[in-house]
Amino acid sequence: MQQTSSCQYIPTDQQKTGIPLIYGEHLSHTFHAKQNVVAVDKVDFGIAEGKITAIIGESGSGKSTLLKLIYGLLEPSSGEVRYRGWLVPTRKDKLIPGHDAMKLVSQGFDDLNLYAKVWDNIASQLPNTNLSLKESKTRETLDRLNILHLGQQRVADLSGGEKQRVAIARALVNEPEVLLMDEPFNQVDAAFRDALQQDIRLIVEETGITVLLVSHDPTEVLAMADELIVMKNAKIMEQGSPTRLYYEPTHSYTAQLLAKSNILSSDQAALLGISSHHTIGIHQEDVAFEEHTQGEFQVKDIRFRGFYKELVLNNRQLALHAILHPLSNIAIGSNVVVTIKKYITFY
Ligand code: ADP
Ligand code: MG
Repeated sequence: MQQTSSCQYIPTDQQKTGIPLIYGEHLSHTFHAKQNVVAVDKVDFGIAEGKITAIIGESGSGKSTLLKLIYGLLEPSSGEVRYRGWLVPTRKDKLIPGHDAMKLVSQGFDDLNLYAKVWDNIASQLPNTNLSLKESKTRETLDRLNILHLGQQRVADLSGGEKQRVAIARALVNEPEVLLMDEPFNQVDAAFRDALQQDIRLIVEETGITVLLVSHDPTEVLAMADELIVMKNAKIMEQGSPTRLYYEPTHSYTAQLLAKSNILSSDQAALLGISSHHTIGIHQEDVAFEEHTQGEFQVKDIRFRGFYKELVLNNRQLALHAILHPLSNIAIGSNVVVTIKKYITFY
């Protein structure tokens, strides 16, 4: 049985009730390096049980630090983080760092023994007290990650995606209640990313495990996460479902991050006939255009993006990015008339 209360580590702690599974309140962390760096600045958040939550934000925004605070690897400078209502114990409270009910898959493959077989990397996590259970649990976990056939291979000989599956299997074999992953798809080729994401989704559905992951490329987790936490400059900007944050972001930062949205000042908006006292965002898919010799905008650039092309449209004062169907044969230099189908106001 996993120890989910912290009272054995923090005798003075009292359980808070009626809060989410993982709960942060005014949580901060300052690194005391040559200069003090406030990496997480008074954040409040709640993470629901049995869901996939992704912490997203540009590089340096504090994502990894937040993950380490949640796991108990770092000490809050102020505020607190709780799991099932209990304070998360840190290094000062317990000898072996990391919450007993959680497992962290760190960046890179630091935790794997590259020169051992896949099977042994997993089995070594289990006690020798029951060898047949050890065997069946290892088999089951490898199977769950679809790497049973790789069992006798050395980790060093595997692809990035396969190594990541081994790292996740290693974290899961002892059935933690929470799986934490820092940039888990960085080393996974785009072609294999989707399959791994869907396998993780399936594991969440089958086991009810709670997954919390960090990503600096939010578009890669849009399809996978139930909930997103958006970070910028050590702060949480907003939290919500992927669709809500995509279609109704509160901050222009979120719109840029999730949709590469066009962000326009009110003066720039006025040039498109949109009257607003605030900054607005126009998603690329909401910029409609039609070739017309009298068109006010000109096609400045066409960028190949795979299954679509990104069009850069210019008039004298303004550049807009739009999405071009791959079969369309508009040419650089063409004049176009632009129509804005929809925009978002940032108050
Ligand atoms: P992210 O994971 O979003 O890229 P991090 O949480 O790693 O961001 O870092 C947040 C900020 O804290 C950055 O400015 C980073 O340089 C700083 N930082 C991270 N780790 C340390 C450390 N061990 N010592 C000093 N500063 C650090
Ligand atoms: Mg990081």
